[in-house]
Amino acid sequence: MRAEPLALPASERQLSAAWSNPGHLPLRLESGSPVRVVFPGVPAGGRGPDFQGAILEIDGDLVRGDVELHLLASGWFAHGHHRDPAYRSVVLHAVAVNDSITHHTLHDGRQIPLLVLPTGLPTGHPLPFTPPCALETARGLDPAPILRRLGHRRVRARAAAIEPLVRERGPSGALYTAMLRVLGGPNAVAFAGVAGSLPLALLLEWSSTSAAGRATAIRALLNGALDYTALDQHRGRPASTPVRRIELAARILGTLWPGPAQWPFECPDAVFRTFHGAGASRALAAELSVNAALPVSLAARIWPEDAVLAAWDAVPSPGTYGRLKLLEGWLRGAAATRPFRTASALQGGLVLHADYCTKGFCGRCPLSAVRRPPLP
Ligand code: SF4
Repeated sequence: MRAEPLALPASERQLSAAWSNPGHLPLRLESGSPVRVVFPGVPAGGRGPDFQGAILEIDGDLVRGDVELHLLASGWFAHGHHRDPAYRSVVLHAVAVNDSITHHTLHDGRQIPLLVLPTGLPTGHPLPFTPPCALETARGLDPAPILRRLGHRRVRARAAAIEPLVRERGPSGALYTAMLRVLGGPNAVAFAGVAGSLPLALLLEWSSTSAAGRATAIRALLNGALDYTALDQHRGRPASTPVRRIELAARILGTLWPGPAQWPFECPDAVFRTFHGAGASRALAAELSVNAALPVSLAARIWPEDAVLAAWDAVPSPGTYGRLKLLEGWLRGAAATRPFRTASALQGGLVLHADYCTKGFCGRCPLSAVRRPPLP
């Protein structure tokens, strides 16, 4: 018997919570085929499908892929997903209400099964699938060494990606560009573009003679180089608006370069505290350290790799990103310790999430394929 359609939830967040925990209710697609949720996937966060790496049994066949949720089925077309390549791996469109006249959703001519989530989804019911990492950590596995190793992979990858910029602009110029990108947040491209039109050497030269003070002059120059009309002004908290971020950038740049454009940190351990001391919040100082200064220093070979990695491991976490919350819960283990206490562990979590969880690699990821010593 088909369940009653869900009364429209107040938000997609509620729908997402319902999908995360579908219990063992028999489900039927709009086409009438039975579907069983083996694993709901991992919340992806950001752009793209809502859940990635889901495992479903549809009509007796095991299907792997992404799941997109909407309150109304028409949301798929309203948001332009039907032509967006980021949605090509979607294998199920789950909705609260099917307000369309069809039994499926289309992506580039391909039919995607459509599911109306039924009422009575059991909240607080255990997930139908507990990922191996949760079982391993509940048995006492400490995820910290694996997260650290994956985090190191990420800083090396970031250093490799930034190396061409270091060759083109030098270590300080690359640092200036990478910092502006971090400070730009949702306007990262436009902020980084400022570094292209206003190179660091010019910025420092022009601001050095200002009677108003260096930080004030830097702020005016940055403001002049940034195209405010092309920016997203409304996302994030008041402290994250483009105007406030330019003010902060000017303070940090004035602190890092009171004189000529040379490498501004005496040692890797000084990176985080310098950003924090220049006015960046703890979270932003952590982001600037792990996404700008430490990768640039590695790419430019300013310090030995061991010293950079040790400093990377010591940077505090900027706070767990939304897309890692579920993974964080799974990795807490019996001792209920926070797995992402450091920025390094958090970066390792991002690698795990992107390379394994959202690809449906449960059972094959480093946290589920841990070799155990043979029983005596
Ligand atoms: S891929 Fe690994 S870390 Fe991710 S949910 Fe599955 S078992 Fe856990």
